[in-house]
Amino acid sequence: MKVAVFGTKAYDRQFLEAANSPKQHDLVFFEPRLNQDTAILAAGFPAVCVFVHDQMDAPTLELLAARGTRLVVLRCAGFNNVDLKAAANLGITVVRVPAYSPYGVAEHAVGLILSLNRKIHRAYNRVREGNFSLDGLLGFNLNGRTVGIIGTGKIGLILGQIMKGFGCHLLAYDVYHNPDMAALGGKYVELPELFAKSDIISLHCPLTPETHHFINTEAIAQMKPGVMLINTSRGGLIDTQAVIEGLKTRQLGSLGVDVYEQESELFFEDWSGHIIQDDVFQRLTTFPNVLITGHQAFFTEEALRNIADTTLANITDVEQGRTCPNELRPQPEVGDKVLVA
Ligand code: NAD
Repeated sequence: MKVAVFGTKAYDRQFLEAANSPKQHDLVFFEPRLNQDTAILAAGFPAVCVFVHDQMDAPTLELLAARGTRLVVLRCAGFNNVDLKAAANLGITVVRVPAYSPYGVAEHAVGLILSLNRKIHRAYNRVREGNFSLDGLLGFNLNGRTVGIIGTGKIGLILGQIMKGFGCHLLAYDVYHNPDMAALGGKYVELPELFAKSDIISLHCPLTPETHHFINTEAIAQMKPGVMLINTSRGGLIDTQAVIEGLKTRQLGSLGVDVYEQESELFFEDWSGHIIQDDVFQRLTTFPNVLITGHQAFFTEEALRNIADTTLANITDVEQGRTCPNELRPQPEVGDKVLVA
């Protein structure tokens, strides 16, 4: 099938082309993100392939449908950027990659925890400048500490397994209890108890209307003073302004994030030669106890291979008229309301 691949980075092309050898589909790569302004590029393509920041809203889908597109192939799990109802009404099939890097994301969360705790990001700079002072680098043993995991699906469970290996106690919160987490020794508690008892809190639930800004001023006030907060899930889970206040009062001891609510304006691009206009983001970067990465938790060789393989298999399924297990359909309860990665 002829596929217009949008928002292409060099690594997307490398892994998609490798997975497409021998050539199964005709992939044409475009750098711009797909939106109303760029939809014209897809004229005559029966399929478009998109990522997390492409805007698949109703007007864009209408433009695509009018020019012959019948398939939207997400090379990610989340579909908050796709209007599934509009796609269904236009006869456009939507497929995705539901899981591609749970280990990569959990391991990245652990990387943030270790770096923040032992101040490795600060030590790296100090040593390069010939400063071998230990002042300000004091950490704590992870062994015996309590880790609160919010969202105990694929990634949250793996984080639990790794932290268990460090000798941590596990507290868990989820709307569904995962028996594997319980078998690991994770104790399901209500949020106030998790907030009050955890030395480290890590977020692994999807962004939904219910979870939007659920780490807010009230939640932070219930946390153990000096708690470490980790978010590799979705920026909108956190009220960033409330977190900044929590850091200023030292109620929050440290913050590690791979995601940020306004990240689509910044992430995946090089802004190093520009003046960044987002004052909230810039304030966050001034704290020595804040570590930010730019939505790279998924970014492992294994994940990019999985994404490429599943993406091409999804296209083949649809092309050959087979039922695609990764097809998305609008569902009133979850579907287009659920905002995930
Ligand atoms: P998953 O679906 O396996 O697990 C999510 C868990 O969250 C489920 O157990 C679900 O019951 C729970 N949940 C749903 N609503 C909840 C609520 N209101 N309160 C508490 N728990 C709730 O998903 P996953 O693969 O583990 O991914 C978790 C999140 O990680 C995704 O939603 C996504 O936002 C994020 N993610 C980030 C990256 C990255 O690169 N940073 C990559 C992939 C996924």
